[in-house]
Amino acid sequence: METLLLKNNIDDIKYAARLIRDGQVVGIPTETVYGLGADASNEEAVGKVFAAKGRPADNPLIVHLADFSDAERYTSMIPALAYRLAERFTPGPLTMVMPKNERIPMLTSGGLDTVGIRVPSHPVMHSIIEQSGCAIAAPSANRSGLPSPTSAEHVMRDMNGRIAAVVDGGQSEFGVESTVISFDGEDAVRILRPGAVTREMLLEVCGEVVIDPAILNEVGEGEKVASPGMKYKHYSPKADIIMVESQLGDFTSLVGDNYGDGVYALIFDGDEAGFPYRHLTYGADSSMQAHWLFQRLRELDDMGAEKVYVRAPSTDGVGLAVYNRLIRAAGFEVIRI
Ligand code: AMP
Ligand code: MG
Repeated sequence: METLLLKNNIDDIKYAARLIRDGQVVGIPTETVYGLGADASNEEAVGKVFAAKGRPADNPLIVHLADFSDAERYTSMIPALAYRLAERFTPGPLTMVMPKNERIPMLTSGGLDTVGIRVPSHPVMHSIIEQSGCAIAAPSANRSGLPSPTSAEHVMRDMNGRIAAVVDGGQSEFGVESTVISFDGEDAVRILRPGAVTREMLLEVCGEVVIDPAILNEVGEGEKVASPGMKYKHYSPKADIIMVESQLGDFTSLVGDNYGDGVYALIFDGDEAGFPYRHLTYGADSSMQAHWLFQRLRELDDMGAEKVYVRAPSTDGVGLAVYNRLIRAAGFEVIRI
């Protein structure tokens, strides 16, 4: 199959929407990362998404809607708190897990009786959903295990020949996947995956926000998890990633002591002056680090990196999302100095 590269214009968007309506899989831009979109209610189409990604069948797909009011079509119960959160955070990078109804096949929900619902804000994604008339199931558009794609070029690299088309909607703004939450009571939510909607932001609407321990800690084999994605190694480039929590001076010494062919560092913007080793930078603050992280991990592979020492980001605000992706890319290998 030849994968078409479509542009951000109304004819191409309509074409992409028709492909999805016809049961095809299309790479689509969102404000978080690029997704692999298919009609969420069409089992055959959803099956193609799992096949194209090489995704384990028990890892559910998030379902994307044009407006939160459409959530009633695909769920059996919507907590009052969900409406309050939707008011404040949709459209945007927030996924809410709720009991599903029969319009969402078990294949889409990875065998769970719940579904993650999101209303994306990216205008191209929004119009693809509207034009298709479908709820669009869309995981990140990377091959399973690789860093998520933040540009159409990344999607083409991973998916060329495996899906019908990719729509180029520019570089993804946030750069990390949506915040995923479930409901823990009338006024409480649990963060299953951190993202650009932070704990602090959720606390403006909810009485209590619990951070699931699996966000920062390795899940033991056979352990039960609230969110299947927590079990899998994720976001990893070919290179070995080693996270380092330390001051710049200690970090520089550590890289020096271990320096050699194929060794690189991923440091903050502002660290470069006087840093004598091969490196890339990934931003000076958490938002920029989220924006650049996956792009940089892919660039490091292109440069032939075999081992990458990464300065660990702060876990405050959006930083928690960046830290969570990196610690998974590192297979939980962290050096603390
Ligand atoms: P991705 O599709 O790559 O953005 O990953 C989506 C992630 O969202 C999954 O790996 C799960 O961890 C989480 N998720 C989606 N749907 C549900 C659900 N119904 N219950 C719990 N977690 C979910
Ligand atoms: Mg993913």
